[in-house]
Amino acid sequence: MGFFVDFRCQNCRYEERDIGVGRGKSEFPFLALFRCDNCKTIGSTWINEHQLPLCAHCYHDAVVILPDDTTRVNCPKCGEPALITRKEGAWQ
Ligand SMILES: [Zn+2]
Ligand SMILES: [Zn+2]
Repeated sequence: MGFFVDFRCQNCRYEERDIGVGRGKSEFPFLALFRCDNCKTIGSTWINEHQLPLCAHCYHDAVVILPDDTTRVNCPKCGEPALITRKEGAWQ
Protein backbone atom coordinates (compact mmCIF):
# COMPACT_ATOMS: atom_id res chain seq x y z
CA MET A 1 0.00 0.00 0.00
CA GLY A 2 1.25 3.45 -0.79
CA PHE A 3 1.23 6.61 1.24
CA PHE A 4 1.81 10.32 0.90
CA VAL A 5 4.51 12.62 2.16
CA ASP A 6 5.10 16.36 2.30
CA PHE A 7 8.47 17.91 1.70
CA ARG A 8 9.18 21.23 3.34
CA CYS A 9 12.31 23.37 3.54
CA GLN A 10 12.26 25.85 6.40
CA ASN A 11 15.14 27.76 4.91
CA CYS A 12 13.98 28.72 1.40
CA ARG A 13 10.29 27.77 1.77
CA TYR A 14 10.38 25.33 -1.11
CA GLU A 15 7.74 22.68 -0.55
CA GLU A 16 6.04 19.83 -2.35
CA ARG A 17 2.83 18.42 -0.93
CA ASP A 18 1.06 15.10 -1.26
CA ILE A 19 3.89 13.21 -2.92
CA GLY A 20 2.72 9.63 -3.50
CA VAL A 21 5.18 6.91 -2.47
CA GLY A 22 5.15 3.14 -2.27
CA ARG A 23 3.50 0.16 -3.91
CA GLY A 24 0.08 -0.82 -5.06
CA LYS A 25 -0.88 -4.44 -5.44
CA SER A 26 2.04 -5.49 -7.63
CA GLU A 27 5.78 -5.29 -7.12
CA PHE A 28 6.35 -3.10 -10.19
CA PRO A 29 5.93 -0.36 -10.97
CA PHE A 30 6.12 1.46 -7.68
CA LEU A 31 6.46 5.10 -6.70
CA ALA A 32 9.77 6.18 -5.21
CA LEU A 33 10.89 9.48 -3.77
CA PHE A 34 13.60 11.23 -5.69
CA ARG A 35 15.68 14.36 -5.59
CA CYS A 36 16.59 15.76 -8.97
CA ASP A 37 19.80 17.75 -9.08
CA ASN A 38 19.10 18.79 -12.66
CA CYS A 39 15.88 20.77 -12.13
CA LYS A 40 16.36 20.94 -8.33
CA THR A 41 13.10 19.42 -7.21
CA ILE A 42 11.78 16.70 -4.93
CA GLY A 43 9.03 14.40 -6.08
CA SER A 44 8.10 10.84 -6.75
CA THR A 45 8.45 8.85 -9.91
CA TRP A 46 7.35 5.43 -11.15
CA ILE A 47 10.04 2.78 -10.97
CA ASN A 48 9.82 0.04 -13.56
CA GLU A 49 11.86 -3.11 -13.63
CA HIS A 50 14.94 -2.83 -15.90
CA GLN A 51 14.38 0.86 -16.52
CA LEU A 52 16.28 3.88 -15.32
CA PRO A 53 14.20 6.11 -13.07
CA LEU A 54 13.53 9.52 -14.59
CA CYS A 55 12.71 12.82 -12.97
CA ALA A 56 8.95 13.32 -13.12
CA HIS A 57 9.49 17.03 -13.74
CA CYS A 58 12.30 17.31 -16.30
CA TYR A 59 12.74 13.64 -17.36
CA HIS A 60 16.44 13.72 -16.58
CA ASP A 61 17.94 10.41 -15.45
CA ALA A 62 20.36 11.94 -12.92
CA VAL A 63 17.96 11.49 -10.05
CA VAL A 64 18.81 10.37 -6.53
CA ILE A 65 16.27 7.80 -5.36
CA LEU A 66 15.48 8.16 -1.66
CA PRO A 67 14.29 5.35 0.61
CA ASP A 68 10.55 5.37 1.41
CA ASP A 69 11.25 6.10 5.05
CA THR A 70 13.47 9.12 4.41
CA THR A 71 12.68 11.92 6.84
CA ARG A 72 15.62 14.24 6.26
CA VAL A 73 17.06 15.29 2.96
CA ASN A 74 19.06 18.24 1.81
CA CYS A 75 16.84 20.72 -0.01
CA PRO A 76 17.54 20.56 -3.75
CA LYS A 77 17.13 24.31 -4.06
CA CYS A 78 19.20 25.73 -1.21
CA GLY A 79 21.14 22.71 0.07
CA GLU A 80 20.00 23.10 3.67
CA PRO A 81 18.60 20.12 5.63
CA ALA A 82 14.87 19.80 5.11
CA LEU A 83 12.13 17.50 6.35
CA ILE A 84 9.94 14.88 4.75
CA THR A 85 6.86 14.07 6.78
CA ARG A 86 4.51 11.18 6.27
CA LYS A 87 0.84 12.03 6.06
CA GLU A 88 -2.38 10.31 7.05
CA GLY A 89 -4.06 8.32 4.36
CA ALA A 90 -3.04 5.75 1.81
CA TRP A 91 -3.52 4.79 -1.79
CA GLN A 92 -3.68 1.41 -3.52
ZN1 LIG B 1 15.55 25.06 0.64
ZN1 LIG C 1 14.37 17.09 -12.79
